[in-house]
Parts: sequence; structure tokens; C-alpha cells
Amino acid sequence: MAIREKPHARGKVQAGDVTQRVGVEAIEARGVDVQQLVDKLIDAAGAEFTTYYYYTILRMYLAGHEDYKEICEDARLEDRAHFELITPRIYELGGSIPYDIREFADRSGCPDAYLPGTNDGKQAPSADGGEPTAASILEVLLGAERCAIRTWSEVCDLTFGKDPRTYDMAARILNEEVEHEAWFIELLSKERDGVIRPSGHFRRGAPGHAPYSKNTGFYNP
Ligand code: ZN
Ligand code: FE
Repeated sequence: MAIREKPHARGKVQAGDVTQRVGVEAIEARGVDVQQLVDKLIDAAGAEFTTYYYYTILRMYLAGHEDYKEICEDARLEDRAHFELITPRIYELGGSIPYDIREFADRSGCPDAYLPGTNDGKQAPSADGGEPTAASILEVLLGAERCAIRTWSEVCDLTFGKDPRTYDMAARILNEEVEHEAWFIELLSKERDGVIRPSGHFRRGAPGHAPYSKNTGFYNP
């Protein structure tokens, strides 16, 4: 009996060729512009990484608002997890993050989340005569989350139905960014305007344990 032809045993990439990737070829064949996607992922990874950095500072100046600090910490650690989730994907697609961190920070897809009152990070806040307020910090945090939602929504658009792996990652990150926005709307609305706009969320088990990802273990380093 003739052995059945195996439909996927061979393709454009030759056996043993390590200079090309079937994982790239397959998504290109489905219409993904891989170079464009890699560029967007690097910009997005840069935004997650710099956000993680700036949230470290923002959180310090929420002293006395210990509840806000906890929420800020969740968002901070989850943004670091987003950086670590998406960076390996950049390499799988044949890309690389920049070798110079200055280039990486500069090409971030989102603005720097400077501490208010620092003249865009050029001076200590006290030198300005005014300490940043909880409301002004929450406004920065909210702005950063909104940029992240726009970023990951775009990555979802570019990959939907064509690159299931990147799409799955982007969608999981987007889920958390949408939650972050809801947290900071709730806090800013109450703090600045005295208006209750519930996020609707329960407490995280641990940072990065979004309810939908609790079983994946993916965000729990
Ligand atoms: Zn993030
Ligand atoms: Fe976020």
C-alpha cells in the first residue's frame, strides 16, 4: 500500500535551513507584514518597559495613599510582565530589541509617563515649588493605560485571523490594559471629582493574576 503523501512535510523553507523560519513564512502567507509587525512590537515593548520604569517613580509619590500605591504596583508589575511576554515574540519573528536602551526608550510607542511637576523629568518636583498631587499622578497613569489600549488594539487588528500566536499575546495584554484603565478611572474620578465610577473589579490574588489568566501561570514569574 502506498504511503499517504504528508501534506505539511515540506514547504518553501528547505529542511535543515536555519536561516529562515516557517513560523514567519506561515504568517506572511496569511497576509502579515512581518517587518511592520516586528517594528510595532518593538515600539510596544518599549512602551511597556518605560512605563514600568516611570510607574516606579509615580508610585513613590503616592505615599500616604497606600491603596493607590497597591493599585499602581499591580499595574507596574503587569506592564513589566507585558514586556517579558512580548519580547520573546520579537525574536521568534526574526527581530531584536535595540542594543542601546536609549534607542529603545526613544522609540516607545507611548509618551514618557513623567512625574507631574518635574518639567518632563528635568528636575525634582520640589524645585518647582509644587509637589505632585495624587490626582495629577492618577491622570498620568490613566493616560499611559489609554495609550497601551490603543497600542495593543492595533496589534490585535494586524494579527487577527492571520497570526494566532501574536494575537493571543496581544489580546491577553489588552485585557489587562483595559482593566488598568478601569482602575484609574475609578480612582481619579473619586479623587479629583468626588464622583464614584466603580471599576467593577475584585482584588487580584497577586499582581498579574488577572481573572482570565489565573490558570495559565503566564504572568506569575
Ligand atoms: Zn502593559
Ligand atoms: Fe497597563
